Amino acid sequence: MKNIAILCSGGDVSGMNPALKHFVEYSLQRGLTPYFVYDGYEGLIDNNIFKAGYEDVSGIIIRGGTKIGSARSKRFMQSEYRTIAKKNLDAHAIDMLIVLGGDGSFRGLHAFYQEHKIKFCGIPSTIDNDINGTDYCLGVDTALNIIKISIDSIRDTASSFRRAFVIETMGRDCGYLALVSSLTSGAELCLIPEVSYDLSVHEQQFKEQIKNGRRYFIAVVSEGIKDESQTIADWFEDKIGIESRVSVLGHIQRGGNPTIYDRLMAYKFVNHAINALMNGKEESIVCYAKSGFELRSIEEVVSKRKELDPELLSCLANV
Ligand code: ADP
Repeated sequence: MKNIAILCSGGDVSGMNPALKHFVEYSLQRGLTPYFVYDGYEGLIDNNIFKAGYEDVSGIIIRGGTKIGSARSKRFMQSEYRTIAKKNLDAHAIDMLIVLGGDGSFRGLHAFYQEHKIKFCGIPSTIDNDINGTDYCLGVDTALNIIKISIDSIRDTASSFRRAFVIETMGRDCGYLALVSSLTSGAELCLIPEVSYDLSVHEQQFKEQIKNGRRYFIAVVSEGIKDESQTIADWFEDKIGIESRVSVLGHIQRGGNPTIYDRLMAYKFVNHAINALMNGKEESIVCYAKSGFELRSIEEVVSKRKELDPELLSCLANV
């Protein structure tokens, strides 16, 4: 029997638990012995590595977050600790590793592979959807649905009170969450780091809309834009003449019951990762592009900034 391990690293996402469930089931189906590494790379260093069975994954498919914990690890940035991590994996005779994480976690994996040749496969998992080479990262759909529910709720109160709401989404320096949420929620304004903006161009139009009976505005802004969200809210009050509020959605975007799409994608990503390792592929990232799965190198996924879909961006111009 060959041994295979999985860990979650960096920011957690909804979809990690379904991935863990399928990892156990599919590993056993393929004749492998599955192991969990708890708390990311910290767990590799501290030998927090345990055999996993069906009982460990029962009931977790409906839960956000990750049952085995995730972590950021300063120690894993140092070669001496990666050597300890390798010794711990060797002690369990594990030579295949699956990592659910973002580009930072993949950089860590790359260093680990170069020094110790541990066979790995990465599964892009971040709500920011900012990994080059893959159209989809695990957790994005759940985050978008949480944002949708939040904006729909805010719209109710905005319309009752004649207010402008500036709703701030996560995404670091990637505007994907804000762009998609703005389009699918019918926001009046969307500001993202990838597109420069000048608020004054909206002044006349927004004021006229108020004259013609508009009761509220929804602005969806990404956390990575040059201004603070409060500055945008102040602009609504000072220049457009409507009371405004800021709503920072924050970490609620990372949690919640995984959507059907994230559960399915978790299964497919895991299938491809285990198949890749069993087919002798030593260092790859499972990417989803053009409606299919492909294995790509770490260099490719971390080398470039991911660009937003130009078709989506072109819709933004009409918002
Ligand atoms: P994400 O994977 O979500 O982008 P981080 O950027 O925080 O999250 O990275 C997660 C972890 O990956 C870090 O805490 C660190 O342990 C490891 N890591 C990141 N970059 C490197 C690197 N260059 N060398 C070794 N380990 C790294």
